Amino acid sequence: MPVEISENDDSVEMLKNIHISTYNDNRDDDADPEEVEDLMNDDDDDDDDEDDDEVQKPVTLGFVEKPKNKWSLLRQLFPSKAGGVPAWLDPINLPSGRSRLCDICEQPLQFLLQVYAPTSDRESTFHRTLYLFMCLSMSCLLKDQHEQWKRPAVNASRSVKVFRCQLPCDNPFYSSEPPRHDGSDKPLGSGAPLCNWCGTWKGDKFCGSCREARYCSEKHQAMHWRSGHKVMCQNSSRNAGNSSAEDQKSASSSPWPEHEIVNEDEAEYNVDVSTDLDNANCLVSKNQMDDSINSLIDSFQGDSDRRSWGNFQERIARAPEQVLRYCRNVCSRPLWPMSSGQPSTADIPKCSYCGKPRCFEFQVLPQLLYFFGVKNDADSFDWATIAVYSCEASCEGAASYKEEFAWVQVSSPSQVVP
Ligand SMILES: [Zn+2]
Ligand SMILES: [Zn+2]
Ligand SMILES: [Zn+2]
Ligand SMILES: [Zn+2]
Repeated sequence: MPVEISENDDSVEMLKNIHISTYNDNRDDDADPEEVEDLMNDDDDDDDDEDDDEVQKPVTLGFVEKPKNKWSLLRQLFPSKAGGVPAWLDPINLPSGRSRLCDICEQPLQFLLQVYAPTSDRESTFHRTLYLFMCLSMSCLLKDQHEQWKRPAVNASRSVKVFRCQLPCDNPFYSSEPPRHDGSDKPLGSGAPLCNWCGTWKGDKFCGSCREARYCSEKHQAMHWRSGHKVMCQNSSRNAGNSSAEDQKSASSSPWPEHEIVNEDEAEYNVDVSTDLDNANCLVSKNQMDDSINSLIDSFQGDSDRRSWGNFQERIARAPEQVLRYCRNVCSRPLWPMSSGQPSTADIPKCSYCGKPRCFEFQVLPQLLYFFGVKNDADSFDWATIAVYSCEASCEGAASYKEEFAWVQVSSPSQVVP
């Protein structure tokens, strides 16, 4: 259910009408800001100058589901999705060069999720999608913990990256008519050829032998070669002409299975927690979820972290399967699991394209890893939350994919390498 940001908010005109949605969903304006409680945790050890007394904005929760149809998550349907490969909004001018690599190990980044969040007040943001990528190496993520504090941000070596892409209603890639969602929707043209291994990044390098298989990187070429292209290479040159690059299935399977992200208004869950926990319709039992999330707390040090964790957990318990919390507003802030390692307003770098401040837009919760089937043990890949900040002006500019900013709290401060 799409949630529009409250109409009586006049703090920042341009943030009105921002929502995550399905393009042709019926608009639903029943979110009552009066019912929305204070979303924030206590940040008494934070010297932030933000006004925490301000009425908090409604939060839209994201949940993952198996895609309803095999066409449900194609780019012409403007999906919000997690896992699998990205559905590139602008299918031609993809992020290129170093921006698609982990700055630390220099390997291509893995797609985590994308959120379709258009704004209806401006022509240039009729379609708007944010993409989140990260390196699968936990040691890179731990190094990234230090890099995220670096200023200017362009000097930081990040293993987590966010891109923003937006298009007007009238654009070269899609019809201006809303999709019919019956399997018949088609984009106006094909996109750039993608890497045959990862299916994620532009395939701008060729296999030297067949001149047909395309790759984003030497690493992916080597992986494809070892996993069978060595044999297929000879055959594929005989079948030349059959492969249309964009639609070709990637040879690797994503470590994170593809899911659709569906939205619910958090206000729907503002019921007594004790009754909610007994909800028999829960896909995941309370105990399973507790195991996956409680294992984090043992490593927390200090009372303020424990208190923060308590607030976080109480809030999440209203809808324990949520994987994403969306609330784009200049005065909204993430629900931080820990009080230590939170950025102040000054720690969030300004937009590198227009110089305007960035505001919080959404956060990703560790429950997503549970739905991805990532094992929950001491050495496994993990985070406590990833908060995404984007240009408050959603500025336009030359680059089709503009890099925004992610702040990561890892699950245990003691894991952070000195
Ligand atoms: Zn890396
Ligand atoms: Zn690749
Ligand atoms: Zn080849
Ligand atoms: Zn900007």
